[in-house]
Amino acid sequence: MSLFDSPFFQDAYAQLESAGGIMKMDPNVLERLKYPKRALQVSVPVRLDDGTVKVFEGYRVQHNMTLGPGKGGIRFHPHVSLSETAALAMLMTFKNSLVGLPLGGAKGGIKVDPNDLSRAELQAMTRRYTTEIAMIIGPDKDIPAPDIGTDGQTMAWMMDTYSQLNGYAIPGVVTGKPIAVGGSLGRAESTGKGLAYCVNFAYAHLGKQITSSTTVAIHGFGKVGIPAANDLYAQGAKIVAVSDYTGGIYDKKGLNIHSVVEWVKQNRVLKGYPEADAITNEELLALDVDVLAPAAIDGVITKDNMKNVKARMIAEGANGPLTKEAVEYLTAKGVFIIPDILCNAGGVVVSYFEWVQGLQAFFWDLDTINKKLHDILKLAFDRVVDTQRKHNCNMKQAAFIASLDRLQGAMRLRGMWPG
Ligand code: GLU
Repeated sequence: MSLFDSPFFQDAYAQLESAGGIMKMDPNVLERLKYPKRALQVSVPVRLDDGTVKVFEGYRVQHNMTLGPGKGGIRFHPHVSLSETAALAMLMTFKNSLVGLPLGGAKGGIKVDPNDLSRAELQAMTRRYTTEIAMIIGPDKDIPAPDIGTDGQTMAWMMDTYSQLNGYAIPGVVTGKPIAVGGSLGRAESTGKGLAYCVNFAYAHLGKQITSSTTVAIHGFGKVGIPAANDLYAQGAKIVAVSDYTGGIYDKKGLNIHSVVEWVKQNRVLKGYPEADAITNEELLALDVDVLAPAAIDGVITKDNMKNVKARMIAEGANGPLTKEAVEYLTAKGVFIIPDILCNAGGVVVSYFEWVQGLQAFFWDLDTINKKLHDILKLAFDRVVDTQRKHNCNMKQAAFIASLDRLQGAMRLRGMWPG
């Protein structure tokens, strides 16, 4: 098992090298950023409901902690591996640096399909995993949050386990918690809200406005896709298609998002939604729309299907949904790409607010949170666009360069020990 095993890590590494080359980065700093600072592999034994014990493979990777404690989600998914977790941790370093947070980058996960486990099994697995990584997490060290396959309940179990181990309540150890145990207003919707803000910034940047004829397709109708759809729909955009792992639904006149959300609440999945046509995920990615938001998982637009994409703007809601090759091809075709480390940064920005509120034991109102989120993302968007112009590069490279610029400054100031 090596860091380079997954195409995702190789792609993140290649994007880093490409951005580092354009900005003529200090090669010694670049060399350090190619590898995670620390990677912990743990075995997570769980007694299943039938009495047998099954051991799951878990990780927590801390990529870089120059700017502050590690920060990044926990993923429960069958594809989790050391290599994929390291790639995601690296992206968290660049995301946190880009939006100016005093946080480093980390990621964790367990190789499991959470749908295969009962609630009791899931709780046992989460608590044992938390115990196994407890030595490297903490409010001052590394602060997990939800990612694919985990949610507020997972974070409440993690917070409780960590607090039990220490003998008192420590809400600052994780973010994305339910409000009742120290969560922040607006955290649940923040990633999707950030995506919608970024689409608006991009439209304004291109001298356009979102209107009732702006067509949108969203790949992944979950924690990111639903709030993004809600916000863009409330603004009047026409959401013509959405999809999840069971497939997609399409209506060229525009879906009634409230009714789709209600259906998913009742049925858990989109499949069977009666008021639209069924389409496949591949068909959704190839729709002729103004905005396509891949908001599910990495590696959905690659060299195999990039030529089918007809969207004019792509908002990367997931982490790494487009490969480097797809970004280059689509940029050359004139597609405006809002890169993941900017487009989905809303989640970690409000996680940061939650961490700060928890440490201060003083909580803010929703308007304050959304206003601060908007302003932070606007500043980052403007920096990325300025960087893109300055280097005449693509938007992904621009986002990496803007982020690496800040990080490189901090790494050089702190220096290396021993030198
Ligand atoms: N998992 C989310 C991400 O990929 C959020 C991380 C966090 O809030 O720490 O950005």
